[in-house]
Amino acid sequence: MADIVFRNVTKRYGATLAVDDASFTVNDNEFFCFFGPPLSGKSTILRLVLGLEVPDQGEILIGGKPVNSVSPAKRNVAMVFQNLALFPHMSARDNVRFPLVERKVAEAEIEKRLADVAAKLHIGHILHKPPAQLSGGERQRVAIARALVRDPAAYLMDDPISALDARLREETRVELKRIQRELGKTLIYVTHDQEEAMSVADRMAILENGRIRQIGAPTEIYDRPASAYVARMLGSPMMNILPSVRGASRIEAAEGAIRINDAKAPAEAIEIGLRPEDLKVRPWSDNGTAEEGSGRPARVFEVEPLGGYTVVTLAAGQARLRALLRGQPDIRPDAMVAISCEPARVHYFGQDGGAL
Ligand code: ADP
Ligand code: MG
Repeated sequence: MADIVFRNVTKRYGATLAVDDASFTVNDNEFFCFFGPPLSGKSTILRLVLGLEVPDQGEILIGGKPVNSVSPAKRNVAMVFQNLALFPHMSARDNVRFPLVERKVAEAEIEKRLADVAAKLHIGHILHKPPAQLSGGERQRVAIARALVRDPAAYLMDDPISALDARLREETRVELKRIQRELGKTLIYVTHDQEEAMSVADRMAILENGRIRQIGAPTEIYDRPASAYVARMLGSPMMNILPSVRGASRIEAAEGAIRINDAKAPAEAIEIGLRPEDLKVRPWSDNGTAEEGSGRPARVFEVEPLGGYTVVTLAAGQARLRALLRGQPDIRPDAMVAISCEPARVHYFGQDGGAL
């Protein structure tokens, strides 16, 4: 068992609360992601798991055992290479063997583990080649094999693929996800890239200034963010969050361009959140007088055709909204449009930014 538990863990550096009263459980065999902006405490959490830092308060358990006073070497968790780049002058085989050779593991054991990891990653047939003779995908597999050749109970990765270019990042994260599932190992993964976090994680924790703001499956958090902060962290384009005004039977935002007829809308809401993909945009002329769920006209500010979908930025008075539309709709800058959104898709936020 390699579940990892934090109970009310706090870590300070001088006056900085790097990790602030964190409690979470990473389950055995789980792909668990910490996601947050720079300096939100992600790396500190990994260092606490590894034992490179000791909590000021709280308790850490690995596999059910308290480890606060256990040295890093005895924790059986491993940080894998930050960088998935291979040593160019070594064969794939020597690259994979490297971490074990470096740790002076016995030769027979090295060969056994090499065979094991090579079989799991389907790279046995390319081990003799130098990196330059491998395809991009093969290189990634070898690099991952090198990371996984030690056999700890849990692996930690701190933004491991951020140095790769965008296309390779997308390929690598798919490989990582697949491999983690095949190996069935606990993996704690840190990233500052929301799409990467969502794509790989079984569950994720969202951090802000050392505090865990929400924990859950990516789609759960996406659909039901606990706060406006979390709502803004996931999704691209970002959720539209607008100050809202409550009328007798409806909520208005964006100077009347958004009108939500929702009798059940919480009275304490001061902001509404609308995902770009939940907005419907129609030419105003088709619309005539405001129909159900549409407010006053908005102006098309700019159009970004991205091929499969189109991002339309809308202006309503001072407010700006972004809508994500399928395909390539015939919408031009400066056109007047009606915006609507199904009441069930609207998020409401209160005074403290919490979801209602
Ligand atoms: P992240 O990995 O999310 O970027 P870190 O865990 O590195 O965040 O940092 C969290 C906070 O702790 C930051 O404010 C950072 O400046 C501070 N911090 C991290 N490590 C140290 C350290 N060794 N000494 C002093 N402050 C640190
Ligand atoms: Mg970091």
